[in-house]
Amino acid sequence: MKQTDKIYVAGHRGMVGSAIVRRLQKDGFNNIVTRTSAQLDLRNQEATAAFFAEERPDYVFLAAAKVGGIVANNTFRAEFIYENIMIQNNVIHHAYLNNVKKLMFLGSSCIYPKLAPQPLKEEYLLTGLLEPTNEPYAIAKIAGIKMCDAYRAQYDCNFVSVMPTNLYGPNDNYDLKNSHVLPALLRKFHEAKKNNAAEVVVWGTGTPLREFLHADDMADACFYLMQHYNEEGLVNIGVGEDISIKDLALLVKKITGYEGELVFDTSKPDGTPRKLMDVSKLHGFGWKATIGLEEGIASVYADIKDTVF
Ligand code: GDP
Repeated sequence: MKQTDKIYVAGHRGMVGSAIVRRLQKDGFNNIVTRTSAQLDLRNQEATAAFFAEERPDYVFLAAAKVGGIVANNTFRAEFIYENIMIQNNVIHHAYLNNVKKLMFLGSSCIYPKLAPQPLKEEYLLTGLLEPTNEPYAIAKIAGIKMCDAYRAQYDCNFVSVMPTNLYGPNDNYDLKNSHVLPALLRKFHEAKKNNAAEVVVWGTGTPLREFLHADDMADACFYLMQHYNEEGLVNIGVGEDISIKDLALLVKKITGYEGELVFDTSKPDGTPRKLMDVSKLHGFGWKATIGLEEGIASVYADIKDTVF
């Protein structure tokens, strides 16, 4: 990849897409193409076709997707499967038709079977049933991986897939109904502290284990793999360590300085019991995460506490 290559970052307003743009700019890439969803509806085949024919990018980071936390995934099941499959079909197919040199498809760790052995190795894909709360989203992402592989096999396209673990960072979604756990906890603890509330409600039992990667690490990994990874299949992007939701809540409590109690609302779903990535393949390619969880959450909190909430 050269600094003058034309690079399309699909989803540049999202947490990952915006981090990829920052990462590219840091290395002097100055031919980055972006469109907001109002300017280009990637669910629309004709609009996507016209965009690719006009811009003819050399490289594509496919970070545009409909995403959300456990309740959003479980509630808007039709939207999660329809919108994601439409977006990725259109982008991948028109990248092929317009001779894109390389495309990177971003997925999620929820593609792995609910009861797969931990840590999750890439080879566990399609070896068992999925977690029901996010099955429509996971099926869309699995279709994207298989589509990249099929276009590689039949058309010789260099299309690769990367699967990040749970992500957090700047430009996250803090809407309590739709967000993932970490932004939700930041908001809940921040507001509880401000309002002197006696307790903070944490969903589920607190026992599920999750792994968290900062979006800047994710973007750095994508930038690195765009230059060094050219295989079919998928590669996990994570840190290789996990934490219980209860301990995560205690960490956010400490960072925000809240002094009240935690209560667990077990009427809300736990989701999959554990989701820890095996990152040996990623480490084998020569990339490792550098931002520690406490440091990462503290920096996000410092950035948002006076502006976002
Ligand atoms: P998941 O990784 O796909 O299950 O998605 P989430 O990030 O939404 O949830 C991870 C875990 O955190 C689940 O066990 C949730 O029940 C739990 N959790 C605890 N409190 C919250 C909250 O306020 N919001 C969300 N989204 N999850 C929470």
